Amino acid sequence: MLSYEEPVIRPPAEAGSLILQATIGCSHNRCAFCVTYRQKQFRPRSREDLFAQIDWAGDHMPEVRRVFLGDGDPLVLSTDRLHEILDRLHDRLPQLRRVTAYASAQNFENKSVAELEGLAKAGLTQVYVGLESGCDEILERIDKGVTHEQMVELCEKPTAAGIKLSTMIILGLGGPRLSERHAVDSARLVDRIKPRFASTLTLMLPPGARSYREAFGDPQWRPLDSSEELTELRRFVSSVEGNGIIFRSNHVSNILALEGVFQKSKQRMLAEIDQAIGE
Ligand code: SF4
Repeated sequence: MLSYEEPVIRPPAEAGSLILQATIGCSHNRCAFCVTYRQKQFRPRSREDLFAQIDWAGDHMPEVRRVFLGDGDPLVLSTDRLHEILDRLHDRLPQLRRVTAYASAQNFENKSVAELEGLAKAGLTQVYVGLESGCDEILERIDKGVTHEQMVELCEKPTAAGIKLSTMIILGLGGPRLSERHAVDSARLVDRIKPRFASTLTLMLPPGARSYREAFGDPQWRPLDSSEELTELRRFVSSVEGNGIIFRSNHVSNILALEGVFQKSKQRMLAEIDQAIGE
């Protein structure tokens, strides 16, 4: 029987995937806006427990083609452990075509491109990395643990290894004061990393937004209103210069669903944002 330690989250694109928790919680667990795993003590799931889950899926759901590994950053596991997991998945799920996972940029610090190439060959197809922002002031205030420059260096590795990279930016993180820098620096970060997929989410705070303001350390911070958020999104979209990046802004948190490919869909996406601002 599959078992989960709640809460369990996944990217929108993984709605049809079997979710397996390779780790519980997030090894960083300090980002000021994120309470998803706050109540969980980070730990790798035991080998026996995870393999029992994989074996159960193999016995009862052999048709599974897509697996998403949770929780927040299973790529923190050692390369050897990840190989064991990928091998077991492919042994027990013969139809498996795609294994994806959340990862943080820090997860790539201790993994060489050669190691990541090995994981790609073993079946790791895509990682989702929350960049959150390209603005160093915001990254420091939210306690992301990495700078813009470090994210560029670290996120180049999976791409060089042939693992698809999907990145997320969170609109509204810097409030009105840092909105312009957030949009422009985030577009620059995405351009430098050149992920296959880029998306924007909107900052969603649980009741008690004051605690984010306090953690952010700026008494002037406040959430963006709809018009400010759309303006930030517009600035981000208009600032991305790279070609071929598939862009999605279709998370449940977004006030405007947007999809396209940079640069060919840029003008159409900007027109859709302008229309939403007008309305
Ligand atoms: S790294 Fe991701 S999961 Fe972990 S605390 Fe930050 S936003 Fe949350």
